[in-house]
Amino acid sequence: MKLNNIETVNKVGQEVILKGWVNTVRKMGKIVFVDLRDRSGFVQVVLVPSEITNGNEIELSSIKPEYVLEITGIVNKRGEKQINKELPTGEVEVLAKSVKILNTAETPPFEIVNEERQANEELRLKYRYLDLRHERMQKNIKVRHAVIRVMREFFYDQDFLEIETPFLSKSTPEGARDFLVPSRNYPGKFYALPQSPQQYKQMLMVAGLEKYFQIVRCFRDEDQRGDRQAEFTQLDVEMSFVDQEEILHLVEKLIIEVMNRVKPAVGTQHVVSSQYIAPFPRMTYEAAMKKYKSDKPDLRKDKNNPDEFAFVWVTDFPMFEYKEGDKRWGATHHPFTAINPEDFKLLEKVKTHHNASLEKIRAWQYDLVLNGSEIAGGSIRTHDPKILHKVFEILGHSDKEIQAKFGHLLEAFKYGVPPHGGIAFGLDRLVAILCGETSIREVMAFPKTSDNRDPLMDSPSEVEKEQLEELGITIKNKM
Ligand code: ASP
Repeated sequence: MKLNNIETVNKVGQEVILKGWVNTVRKMGKIVFVDLRDRSGFVQVVLVPSEITNGNEIELSSIKPEYVLEITGIVNKRGEKQINKELPTGEVEVLAKSVKILNTAETPPFEIVNEERQANEELRLKYRYLDLRHERMQKNIKVRHAVIRVMREFFYDQDFLEIETPFLSKSTPEGARDFLVPSRNYPGKFYALPQSPQQYKQMLMVAGLEKYFQIVRCFRDEDQRGDRQAEFTQLDVEMSFVDQEEILHLVEKLIIEVMNRVKPAVGTQHVVSSQYIAPFPRMTYEAAMKKYKSDKPDLRKDKNNPDEFAFVWVTDFPMFEYKEGDKRWGATHHPFTAINPEDFKLLEKVKTHHNASLEKIRAWQYDLVLNGSEIAGGSIRTHDPKILHKVFEILGHSDKEIQAKFGHLLEAFKYGVPPHGGIAFGLDRLVAILCGETSIREVMAFPKTSDNRDPLMDSPSEVEKEQLEELGITIKNKM
């Protein structure tokens, strides 16, 4: 077994076997210095021809960046002057006794060690496997893993069940445009990829499973808008017999756990109101709009401090908002959100969907905002089928449409639906903020370009004529 580079510091005087990539090579006369890279980090390897037993077989000067090497050598302490304080293994170096080239490498299209490679995103994504070799990207992927791990462990401890829901689902209006998947067995019919597992998780509550979570991919076929991805990851949660207070409390506990375990160096002192006995600050949507002109207020004291994490809850969103683009009323969150019972009177007054009192109706909806970004949103759900039906009406659906699009949920709600509510985190956004990244693409292993292409796999791509024929599809306008 190879030794992780990082562990060489504990092996001074011992013989070790290292395997990894050449990060950099420096030649000083006949001596070659290699910074060897593996997942754990870097270590300096010194190749002195006279010390190398298999030296005759290998031309040391042929070693280039990104070659894959196996080194057997002795770990030595570096001289006082040679110590590199920047490097965790900076106090040692490995004197090679034998070198094996496990594989050669062509000159990469951009330098792995050079941060400037950022300049061309197209190239970075085309060669993502090389881009991911960069130290910062490796760190981001590890932070993402750590966050997911803490989340899973937290929910297991809290007695939640991790349940998967289908990707091949049905097109139902949830706010964005659906990705459609043609059905071969049922020509002319389509599955849709879920925009979120919203309706499934609610049906899991009808099923009596009470506490559900899932770390799940969601799909939204949106036009390019800000830092979004057509597929992204959500931490999705739903619980029965809960009120808003209990959900907010649980989420605060989760966040404290994530911060303590993923950012231990930061500690919780920078997390605004880190004690979950004393909750995160809260403000209503109305107050946030009045004071900050935003429903995502940034409460950091110093926006240049990378280790300041200011969480705030925004609550009491309006249930309905007017969608200028579509010239119709829509649900601010989604139609399944519960209306604050104090505003039922207003709901009764609504005769047509043009009624102005619509915007005054408050929902039991809450968003968690971190440093000015929405990182989670959720709501208590309507569990009264009559009210749900009324909401669909207000949103402009005819009875026939309601049956066709939401009949399954209304049917389920006839059979003893418990009061329930939940929340979903945009995992990519949370991880990006924790990593100090501005784009979620920096914390995804294989993201798409901002215009939804994957230069690595070259998708979307054309398919064979036979495939289209099988599906009964003809393409009208080819790009
Ligand atoms: N399904 C919602 C969303 O994706 C989250 C929730 O209400 O739980 O935004």
